[in-house]
Amino acid sequence: MTAIKKELTKNPKKKPQDESKLTFGDTFTDHMFIMEYDDGQGWHDPRIVPYGPLAIDPAAMVLHYAQEVFEGMKAYRTKDGRVLLFRPEENFKRMNVSNERLCVPAIDEAFALKALTELIKVDKDWVPSLEGTSLYIRPFIIAVDPHLGVRPAHHYYFVIILSPVSAYYPEGLNPVKIYVETQYVRAVKGGMGFTKTGGNYAASLRAQAEAEDQEYTQVLWLDGVERKYIEEVGTMNVFFQIDGKVVTPSLQGSILPGITRKSVLDLLRYWKTPVEERRITIDEIAAAADSGKLDEAFGTGTAAVISPIGELKWKEKHMPIDNGEIGPLSHKLYTALTDLQWGNAADPFGWTYEIK
Ligand SMILES: *Cc1c(COP(=O)(O)O)cnc(C)c1O
Repeated sequence: MTAIKKELTKNPKKKPQDESKLTFGDTFTDHMFIMEYDDGQGWHDPRIVPYGPLAIDPAAMVLHYAQEVFEGMKAYRTKDGRVLLFRPEENFKRMNVSNERLCVPAIDEAFALKALTELIKVDKDWVPSLEGTSLYIRPFIIAVDPHLGVRPAHHYYFVIILSPVSAYYPEGLNPVKIYVETQYVRAVKGGMGFTKTGGNYAASLRAQAEAEDQEYTQVLWLDGVERKYIEEVGTMNVFFQIDGKVVTPSLQGSILPGITRKSVLDLLRYWKTPVEERRITIDEIAAAADSGKLDEAFGTGTAAVISPIGELKWKEKHMPIDNGEIGPLSHKLYTALTDLQWGNAADPFGWTYEIK
């Protein structure tokens, strides 16, 4: 691929004055990366340009049939001022898995990482330094042909935008209340559940709204066929510790293979903590809660890292977990992951990637 052209902004924005007040996904840096795809030509014209609106036709296919994929990752500033990414190759690899499912042309993963590195270098001063803050990275691809027939597009944009964000929970690890969804489903095997695509989120909004009406933070999805097996939580994968043993739902095609999930599994195995990936029924969790054997439950994802679950509600049943407090395993995992991400601990796994 040709070199990445750079057009720098003539009107740099004011950087956030108080990094503790950053909210999630509302502030964007001065630049973005964009490249285009055309059938017969492949990906072309990679460029870093001033952040701003995309001009797309009202008939652009993404607006009608949702042919879109995205990723979510972060850049972290270390105490000595360096900037680190966490397993970024995994994100671009996963993006190609999503691309394949949605008939979006594959990207060159190494080139995408190079483009991201160049973009972050241009906007390096936007990586916040207050403890717990980071630069959220959103790569995405959209189908832009002006065409109302249903088919895979011939023309696409690949874009990366950057957004400085504060700690997910300002008060640190905060147990959340989760409601087990019994009416709506998110995805089924054979669908798009294993991809990061906007349509999965559109399908989740109704359930999320109803959970919030009842003062729950997110929903825990059950499988779409039997409404029996645990899938994942809104934007996070889920883990349980039952009688000392850690379990998480196995990847069966309907849940998102989280990179935080993978890292938690890797860490647990490194620590020789017993862990299983398998199907888990909601009845098993309820029985464990009844017998006092449900030690901990937590969600995992890039945004919150580890999110302890303080209460699960299933139909009329309320299951408080670990007295609504942060369990030792959640705490240990949170510390281990954030120490690696912010460069506060040696990285025996080769997970960190420095921007330089
Ligand atoms: C992104 C995402 C996750 C978490 O994945 P990470 O790679 O750990 O950030 C979990 N579930 C869904 C539905 C997601 O979109």
